[in-house]
Amino acid sequence: MTLSPATPEFLNTLEAALPAGVLSEVPAHYLKEPRDLHHGTAAILARPRTVEEVATIVSMCNQHNVGIIPYAGGTGLVSGQVANLDPAPILLSVERMTAVRDIDIANNTITVEAGVILEDVQTAADQVDRLFPLSLAAQGSCRIGGNLATNAGGVQVLRYGNTRDLCLGLEAVIPDGSIYRGLSGLRKDNTGYDLRNLLVGSEGSLGIITAATLKLYAKPKEVATAMAVVSSPAAAVELLGEIQDKLDGLVSSFELINGVGLDFLAAEMPDVRQPFVERPTWMVLLEVTSGLGAELETRLMSTLETAIENGLVLDVLIAQNIQQRQEFWQVRESIPLANKSVGSISSHDISVPISAIPAFIKTGAKAIAKLGDFRINCFGHVGDGNLHYNVYPALGQSARDMTNLRAVVKDTVYGLVHDCGGSFSAEHGVGRDKLGDLEKYGDPAKLAMIRSIKAALDPKGIMNPGVIVRQ
Ligand SMILES: Cc1cc2nc3c(=O)[nH]c(=O)nc-3n(C[C@H](O)[C@H](O)[C@H](O)COP(=O)(O)OP(=O)(O)OC[C@H]3O[C@@H](n4cnc5c(N)ncnc54)[C@H](O)[C@@H]3O)c2cc1C
Repeated sequence: MTLSPATPEFLNTLEAALPAGVLSEVPAHYLKEPRDLHHGTAAILARPRTVEEVATIVSMCNQHNVGIIPYAGGTGLVSGQVANLDPAPILLSVERMTAVRDIDIANNTITVEAGVILEDVQTAADQVDRLFPLSLAAQGSCRIGGNLATNAGGVQVLRYGNTRDLCLGLEAVIPDGSIYRGLSGLRKDNTGYDLRNLLVGSEGSLGIITAATLKLYAKPKEVATAMAVVSSPAAAVELLGEIQDKLDGLVSSFELINGVGLDFLAAEMPDVRQPFVERPTWMVLLEVTSGLGAELETRLMSTLETAIENGLVLDVLIAQNIQQRQEFWQVRESIPLANKSVGSISSHDISVPISAIPAFIKTGAKAIAKLGDFRINCFGHVGDGNLHYNVYPALGQSARDMTNLRAVVKDTVYGLVHDCGGSFSAEHGVGRDKLGDLEKYGDPAKLAMIRSIKAALDPKGIMNPGVIVRQ
């Protein structure tokens, strides 16, 4: 269905139905996204404080066929929260919905509103001696509603799963304006279709998440963090297996780092301290945690010593204190920023089975070399099969002069990913940027079900138009 513009008459009626101050002009930063690739449009910014206010806005937009873009922290990387649409939609930000509604220590759950910043959820958990394990570089600005809508991943998926796995219940406003009150803290509830899991990862295309009940965990009492130089990605994957064998269930992060990324870091962010004097071609940052006092460091050291003897690990550093641990993590977390300064021809957030990682990296390098003289920075959450595979021009050249190559580079990478049973979007979602890729690589029956679900729940197509489903 064709959407209608948010006319002045409509906006006056909407304003009259809401408390003062909910609607306002749209400051420019709401219409940008982190990569500065797209600029959006919006008729007005709505910042409701309650689920009832969200329901009023959605219900009126539904009656008048006006599109809505849900917005949380604005850090999404696939243009789900920013769109240049005609007619301009309403931008609905959950940023004022910031209450921690409940913490149930015995049930190990926290119930928060969608606008709570991820770091504040972590702090609220910490204050009751619990851990909320979702952790990613944007955690100081992304909000839990956005994390749920994108099913965000991050650096601890290996141990705790992605956002979907951390969510037990949801409250949401669906496109007809009704409120789905599903804030359950149950770990077992087999009562029909799993609507929570339908809304998680739906990127605002099926409704607006307003609150969630999330899982909490025992806070690690012991943490051991190491940087290990490995001879190859195959050695990294083997090392992961060894460490999982010896420290079963305790590995929380296992991040692959590539020499190209370290070179970028040295050039673009020279203040970031690099752990090894000679920059390695491949290394891993790994972390094991335990709530029990399991003599982690001794066990980790002994496992790494065996890995050195077996030739899997060439050199290793174990963080001796919190500052050193932070320095290790700073290296990993600064790499995306250094990448951004260098500027890629094309970047890919992909996943492949962990067993396929070494072959994928080898074949990928050969296939990209056939396209030209490029640098590849392949790094990421190897412990869960999620690689960030970014392709850059040769030193001294600029990606700006190579935009015509983006499509062929992307198709080459996604083709290889598809061939080894992987995904073209591991953790960032589909948004508007990857809609064509979903149509190209998605299973036809899956695509048909997605379209049917969208048509059933949002027949007028008001909710985040053009995200996941073409409009
Ligand atoms: C430096 C950096 C590092 C990052 N690292 C990671 C990473 O490690 N792992 C990872 O998975 N992602 C990562 N991201 C991507 C991004 O942080 C995540 O996708 C995050 O979950 C988005 O949350 P947000 O609050 O910023 O959402 P937004 O950007 O505001 O929105 C994202 C999407 O969710 C929809 N949405 C927002 N709020 C709601 C709501 N309440 N209800 C329904 N739909 C809603 C929007 O319409 C949009 O489609 C990174 C981004 C940056 C900039």
